[in-house]
Amino acid sequence: MKLTVHGCRGSIPISTPQSIIYGGNTSCYELIFNDYQLIFDTGTGFRQVSINESKKTIIFYSHWHHDHIQGLAFNSRLYNTKKDIFVSSALNNKNESKNIIHQYFSGFYFPLELINKLPNLKFVEFNDLKKDIKKDFKIEFLRLNHPGGSVGYSIIVDEIKFTLLLDNEYDPSQFSNLQEFVNDSNLVVWDGMFTKEELITKGIWGHSSIEQGIDFFNKCNIKNMLISHHDPLRVDDQLDLFSKKLPKGVQFARDGLKVDFT
Ligand SMILES: [Zn+2]
Ligand SMILES: [Zn+2]
Repeated sequence: MKLTVHGCRGSIPISTPQSIIYGGNTSCYELIFNDYQLIFDTGTGFRQVSINESKKTIIFYSHWHHDHIQGLAFNSRLYNTKKDIFVSSALNNKNESKNIIHQYFSGFYFPLELINKLPNLKFVEFNDLKKDIKKDFKIEFLRLNHPGGSVGYSIIVDEIKFTLLLDNEYDPSQFSNLQEFVNDSNLVVWDGMFTKEELITKGIWGHSSIEQGIDFFNKCNIKNMLISHHDPLRVDDQLDLFSKKLPKGVQFARDGLKVDFT
């Protein structure tokens, strides 16, 4: 199983000389294994994704905030491929999901009617998809604590487990559910947008802290953790400095990072 981080910035893409190392693209993660290419969210990092013509491509959405969908129309390969690309979310049914994407990329907001332009985007019910793929891999979801809702996903293939927990405002009441959900994960992506101090005034935005990620990692049976969804104000020097305090097995996500955990 190979993960590529294409976008790990939260809220809005940035481009500054102080953010070159960790990058400025918003949420997009690509997981490759066997005959599958799974993409989690299509923030601006989605522009970098090559559509793999020899694998089944499925896009899973955690939720519909701008930073998790805004790159969908900007991957030129989407317009050139003839193959079907499946789209699903455990947060909404297929018609709701399709309508949300349609509204975002049409009318007042976008020059093209994206859904009409890309008939090969096939929206599917999460539960139907889950049944279809169950002989190849196992997927589960968990509702997270985020304004408007969000879902985390876990993928298990040949006893290797990947878990994505974006976006989530950690609350201690979530602990046992989250612990069970991530148990035995080889890799967990954690929403660490804020620091402990910042969280005091920014709790309303629906995100967790770096320190909560470290604490959670220490209490759970997880091999590795990527702390991601970096605040747009977070500069490389701050993350580098903070990296020195991270326990073994925990690192900050950065655009272009590849993790092979098979
Ligand atoms: Zn977000
Ligand atoms: Zn969000």
